[in-house]
Amino acid sequence: MPSRLRGAPKGESAPPAPRPGILDIAPYVGGDSTLPGIAKPIKLASNESALGPSPLAIEAYKACAARLHRYPDGSHEKLRAAIGERHGIDPAAIVCGNGSDEILAMLAKAYAGPGDEVLYSAHGFLVYPIVALAAGATPVAAAEKNLRADVDALLARVTPRTRILYLANPNNPTGSYIPAAELRRLRDGLPPDVLLVIDSAYAEFVTESDYSPGGELVAAGDNVVMTRTFSKIYALSALRLGWAYCPPAVADVLNRVRGPFNINQPVQEAGIAALADTAAVNAARGHNTRWRGWLADALGKLGLTVYPSAANFLLVEFGASPAEAAAADAYLRSEGIILRRMEPYSLGQCLRVTIGTEAEMKALVAALSRYLADK
Ligand SMILES: *Cc1c(COP(=O)(O)O)cnc(C)c1O
Repeated sequence: MPSRLRGAPKGESAPPAPRPGILDIAPYVGGDSTLPGIAKPIKLASNESALGPSPLAIEAYKACAARLHRYPDGSHEKLRAAIGERHGIDPAAIVCGNGSDEILAMLAKAYAGPGDEVLYSAHGFLVYPIVALAAGATPVAAAEKNLRADVDALLARVTPRTRILYLANPNNPTGSYIPAAELRRLRDGLPPDVLLVIDSAYAEFVTESDYSPGGELVAAGDNVVMTRTFSKIYALSALRLGWAYCPPAVADVLNRVRGPFNINQPVQEAGIAALADTAAVNAARGHNTRWRGWLADALGKLGLTVYPSAANFLLVEFGASPAEAAAADAYLRSEGIILRRMEPYSLGQCLRVTIGTEAEMKALVAALSRYLADK
């Protein structure tokens, strides 16, 4: 046997091992896109856009094809300028990511590690415990009230080890949100050395007047970050583009840890074009408000419990036990309709439905009517 030059003799025959915590991660599984034997399933499982991307974004993306031999702009200068102009933010305070998921992960990697705690709300987005564990930190879930983030419960779980608090507002998968005044109360109750990350992925869909995506809290201090995405209302999920509005010190940190060319050039160009198409955003919001209301009403009439949602999906409860939601899901799949199972969120009694096109919404209600009538 060849002798080893490095390493403690004791572990000599052991294979490489990841840091503690890594193997505790349950890998994130996205919504299914295909069903065996069904040519064109109706996919309502990943909160993707009902209307698709702006034609301007598609054009801008294609126009890059002849320049694929060039590296992208590593500083995302024009994209940050366009985002800054659209949102009234200094472009220097903006950091772009390969999806907002990348930003959430970079923040955990930079600000939390072994021995630290990362706080989130019990039914919060699954990416938060994943990025916490990947950074070696300990995820801590605070209880919710009626499937809504509870500011007092979150603050009660803060300890001297807490480094980051992630809050999706509105939250996925519950659809609930906390108003601007509650968000401020959460920020005001946090120790100044805890980073509050407000994940406003669904902000553009919200029509309630007491809501804020949280930008004013970023501007007012140095411990709040707001993340946004092009995956939802801008309908560019495939491109992986997100951004964060950060205090200067946080922007500096993210620019040190991010990959030098983390956003492809066609993606940057498509993002700029999408931002300019405000008509497409307004149309998507209008469509969502209309059909979310219609679907909630129709499912309620079928006797299902529909949780109020400010986003582009609804959380629907099928009965007390997860078996009922699983049976409904199996029937819908046999009919070519894919919803999202909620077991990973400890909400197995529910399915999550993305707001789709008019035809998709009508097909879903028709299928569920048949299913519930036959039960
Ligand atoms: C969809 C979603 C995102 C967006 O993720 P991307 O990586 O930008 O596609 C972020 N947060 C929440 C809560 C989401 O549901």
